Amino acid sequence: MPLYSHILLATDFNSETETVIQRAKAMASSNQCTLSLIHVIEPISIAYGGEFPIDLGDLHKELEKQGRERLSELAGKLAIPEANCYLEIGLTEKEILRIAKDNSVDLIVVGSHSKHGLSLLLGSTANAILHHAECDVLAVRVRKGK
Ligand code: AMP
Repeated sequence: MPLYSHILLATDFNSETETVIQRAKAMASSNQCTLSLIHVIEPISIAYGGEFPIDLGDLHKELEKQGRERLSELAGKLAIPEANCYLEIGLTEKEILRIAKDNSVDLIVVGSHSKHGLSLLLGSTANAILHHAECDVLAVRVRKGK
């Protein structure tokens, strides 16, 4: 019996995410279930922790355009329909968790980088999702060059 019915792959389009993509694809095919994609764009004001003194409207539009293009390119490669692709704007972990909950996702797949020092203290996206998701989470270990 399949373990999962809806898998959500969270992608930041980094070079090392190929490992994560392949793992999500394999999980979806072995469970014969739906695979969805999510990419989140964090507004510059969130990334920098406050209001930005210049108008960032054009930059946000460009980021959104690029995000949409990359998401549909990846969706094409994985044969994922557009309805299952989520391009969200906001706080990354919050948006991933919200989309997972609203769409009855039962497995979230993320990459997990081996981080040390300050970034470990501050916590990563994978960490936040592992701690707050209501469903299972697969954190795929990724290393530079893989
Ligand atoms: P990080 O904690 O930033 O090193 O990212 C770990 C993993 O979280 C990535 O491999 C992705 O699976 C996911 N992730 C990070 N940033 C984003 C993003 N902007 N949109 C969707 N998923 C993301």
